[in-house]
Amino acid sequence: MTTRAIVIGGGLHGTSTALHLAQKGLDVVVIEKNSAGRHASGVNAGGVRQLRRHPAEIPLSVAAMDRWLNLDAFLGPDLAAMCEFTGHVGQVAVAETDAEMAGLVAREAELRELGWTHEELLDQAELRRVAPALATHCVGGLISRRDGHASPYRTSQAFRLKAQRDGVRFQEGTRVRGLAQTGTGWRVETSAGGIEGDVVVNCGGAWGWQVAAMVGEALPHIEFAPTMMVSARVPKFLDPVVIGTGRKLSFKQTENGTVVIGGGILGIPDLDAETADPVAERLVESARTVYDLFPIMRTATIVRCWAGLEARMPDEIPVIGPSTTAANLWHAFGYSGHGFQLSPIVGSLLADLIVDGKSPLPLEAFRAGRFNEGPVAAHPGTAS
Ligand SMILES: Cc1cc2nc3c(=O)[nH]c(=O)nc-3n(C[C@H](O)[C@H](O)[C@H](O)COP(=O)(O)OP(=O)(O)OC[C@H]3O[C@@H](n4cnc5c(N)ncnc54)[C@H](O)[C@@H]3O)c2cc1C
Repeated sequence: MTTRAIVIGGGLHGTSTALHLAQKGLDVVVIEKNSAGRHASGVNAGGVRQLRRHPAEIPLSVAAMDRWLNLDAFLGPDLAAMCEFTGHVGQVAVAETDAEMAGLVAREAELRELGWTHEELLDQAELRRVAPALATHCVGGLISRRDGHASPYRTSQAFRLKAQRDGVRFQEGTRVRGLAQTGTGWRVETSAGGIEGDVVVNCGGAWGWQVAAMVGEALPHIEFAPTMMVSARVPKFLDPVVIGTGRKLSFKQTENGTVVIGGGILGIPDLDAETADPVAERLVESARTVYDLFPIMRTATIVRCWAGLEARMPDEIPVIGPSTTAANLWHAFGYSGHGFQLSPIVGSLLADLIVDGKSPLPLEAFRAGRFNEGPVAAHPGTAS
C-alpha cells in the first residue's frame, strides 16, 4: 500500500517537502488554511543569500544555492523562468565604519577557519566597483558572489505547480484543528473533516508551534513581522543585493527597476487575525538608512509597504526534524526571517530523512529537543 504523507502548510517549505516526498513515491496531500504561498513564502524580500548564515545553516544554504542556480533541472524550464531568479549578482554586507569593517574581517576569518570560502572581503575600491551608487563614506564590504534574488510570490506558485505536476494534491481553505495517533499513523482533523495518513509534516510557519501543541509538544513561539517597502521604478543603478552591517537594511533593485527595501524593521504581528501591520514611524529608520547609503534614492517615491508573519526561534535557526513526543510527525518551521533561500534543499533533506532514515547533510543543530537542553545562543546578523 502507498504511504500517505499529510503536509500541514502550503508555504515554500511545505510545498518543497511535498514535492520531494511525491518524487519518492508517496501519496501526498498539502493542507493549507488560506492559499498556498499566502504568508511569508509569498511576501518576503526574495533574497537568495548564502552571506552571513549561521554556521549550522551554511551546508544547507550552499546546497540550496546549487539548486537555485540549476532551477531548470529542479523545476523544468517554464517554471524556473517563472521564479524570476537572478543569481551571481552577489549579496554584499556593507561596512560604514572601520569598526564595522573589523567585524566583517573577523567573520571572513571565522568562515575560512570552518573551511568555507564563499564570503570574500571587499576593500573600498572593490566595493565601489561592485556597487558604484553606494555613498562614498562606505569603507568596504563582504560579498557572497553566487547570491541573488527571486520573486517570492512567483517562486511559491512555481513550486506549487511543480508539486502538482509530481502528483501532490493541495487542499486549500482547510484548517488543521487536531492530530490523533492511530497505531503508527495519524488522523488529521480539519475544518473539512478528517483525513488519515502515515506521516504528518508540520510546515506551519508562524503557526508551526500551534501544530506541535496539538500533540502536547511545547516549541518556542515567537512570531514577528518583518516589514518591506518598495519604490516606484527608477533607472537601473544596482546589481547586487546590499545588506547593512551596523544598520537594518536589505536593498535590491529588481529587473523592472523597482527597489525592494527590508532588513528587519518590524511591524505588528497578529496570528489570530492572520495578518501583520507595518508601523509607519518605524519605517522612517529604513528610509533614513536608504537616504544615507544610496544618495540616488533621495528623490525616489515609495509606493507600497507591507509586513509578513514569520516564526522566530530563540537561536535564530529553524526546527527541522522529528517530533520529540510523537512518532511519524516531523517539523520544519521557524526560519527566523531567512527561510526563502533554504526552501529547495530543506524539503529534499526532510524527504530523505522521512523515507530513507538519513539526511545527506547534517541536521542535528535543528533538532526540536534542543530547547529542553539548556539555554540556546542567538547568532547575530541573520535577518534578511
Ligand atoms: C517580510 C519578510 C521578508 C523576508 N525576506 C527573506 C529573504 O529575503 N530571504 C530569505 O531567505 N527569507 C526571507 N524571509 C523568510 C521567509 O519568507 C520564510 O522563512 C519562509 O517563507 C518560511 O516558509 P514556510 O513555508 O515555513 O512558512 P509560510 O510561508 O508562512 O507557510 C506556512 C503555511 O502554513 C499554513 N498553516 C499554518 N497552520 C496551519 C493549520 N493549522 N492548518 C493549515 N495550514 C496552516 C499557513 O497558512 C501558511 O501558509 C522573509 C520573511 C518575511 C515575512
